[in-house]
Amino acid sequence: MTRSRFAPSPTGFVHVGSLRTALYNFLFARHTGGVHVLRIEDTDQSRFVEGAVDNLLRTMEWAGITFDEGPTQGGEYGPYVQSERTDLYRKYAQELLDNGHAYRCFATAEELDEMRKAQQAAGKPPMYDRRWRNKSQDEIDAKLKEGAPYVVRLRVPLGETITFNDLVRGEVSFESSTVDDQVLMKSDGFPTYHLANVVDDHLMKITHVIRGEEWLSSTPKHVILYRAFGWEDTMPAFAHLPLLLNPDKSKLSKRQGDVAVEDFKSQGYLSEALVNFVSLLGFNPSATQEIYTMEELIASFEIAHVNKGGAVFGREKLDWMNSEYIRKKSPEELLALVKPLVKERGYSADDVYIMKVIRLMQERARTINDFVDFANYFYTAPAAYDEKSRTKNWTPEAKVRIGEILPKFKEAGTWDHAAIEGVVRTYAEGKGISAGKLIHPLRLAVSGVGMGPGLFELLEVIGKNEVIARLERAVEIL
Ligand code: GLU
Repeated sequence: MTRSRFAPSPTGFVHVGSLRTALYNFLFARHTGGVHVLRIEDTDQSRFVEGAVDNLLRTMEWAGITFDEGPTQGGEYGPYVQSERTDLYRKYAQELLDNGHAYRCFATAEELDEMRKAQQAAGKPPMYDRRWRNKSQDEIDAKLKEGAPYVVRLRVPLGETITFNDLVRGEVSFESSTVDDQVLMKSDGFPTYHLANVVDDHLMKITHVIRGEEWLSSTPKHVILYRAFGWEDTMPAFAHLPLLLNPDKSKLSKRQGDVAVEDFKSQGYLSEALVNFVSLLGFNPSATQEIYTMEELIASFEIAHVNKGGAVFGREKLDWMNSEYIRKKSPEELLALVKPLVKERGYSADDVYIMKVIRLMQERARTINDFVDFANYFYTAPAAYDEKSRTKNWTPEAKVRIGEILPKFKEAGTWDHAAIEGVVRTYAEGKGISAGKLIHPLRLAVSGVGMGPGLFELLEVIGKNEVIARLERAVEIL
């Protein structure tokens, strides 16, 4: 039975990279019929953010990622929140001190700072110089007696090649002399990520560690820890997922746009689309298919097929996928998503009206927000008019024509797109001009913009009285 885990540090928002890690762990667990564990890694008290765990749980639920064990589900190996497990980490740190695989380091912050500066000045990579590694017991006892603060460091075995097999990258090796004597316990008595992570993966019987590439260089430390504890036989398999990149191949970062799942959600991306898109960042089961349901992703997910190379986060593709998913939804499903936004923006419109807008916009919308923001003219008269379209289409001649067609609209008995089209075409023919000469200025006057769905349908939905009011206003002020 496989056991995979998603082990986020709750920072207040969920990075799309974290979403991918969560997804791959989930897909792996479901594909292999294993157990999916959620573990909250919150031992860094300085990074505590109120409400971060709730937000994380909500985001997972929104994405359709489920867990079999975790803070809300419970389970045999709980608690699943690291801040509730600190006694355990202390016990295991003591075990390493006792068996010599760890040692106390009393170096002060100033000393370490000086050390780093000296290394920098000498052009060397910053690394703890292991100054407390071989101190005599007397020196250590003296410091302990003084009550001097200390950290517990891992005694990395020197002169060894640490090798492990990564399920994505194959064999990976590190020279142990380049590995820091990692701090395992901080002076405040809290463990670092490395100790807590290894202890928990062991105690929670995790079989597969699937995580981002940024943790690859930590893995030799973890391998050394498994050995130091004598847990080598049950060490989990590792799989490090490729980095997510901007289109310019730099590391995907907040500076170049949105990276928080919550931001995509609030911009009107559907969870199915984001999940589909993010799942394919580093893995694609087929050269031809792009749209996958969660079931299909589960059925086809193989760690061995995950790519090594960085995966570009292409916004255009996400937009395309989102429109595909929007098109596949029924108008009723869309209504449930659009209606809260209409309310939020303070527009008043009933379900029948919103459904008409949805039907008209479904083929064109890239996001759920497009139904209310891009198409805001369905809910409110234009507050401004697009300059480009105005220069091009709102000629003195056009203005006269709109003035002339107004009374014909007022006389119209029925107000549907066919009748409206009839009025426009009859007028155009009478004047010997093309209907286009009217369509563009009409659109601008009613919607304020130069593009959108078919004009006659648009006028039908907005309604006779409102259309007339908007045209009168445009003739007056434009
Ligand atoms: N807490 C780490 C994170 O925030 C977990 C890394 C791991 O999966 O080992 O990503």
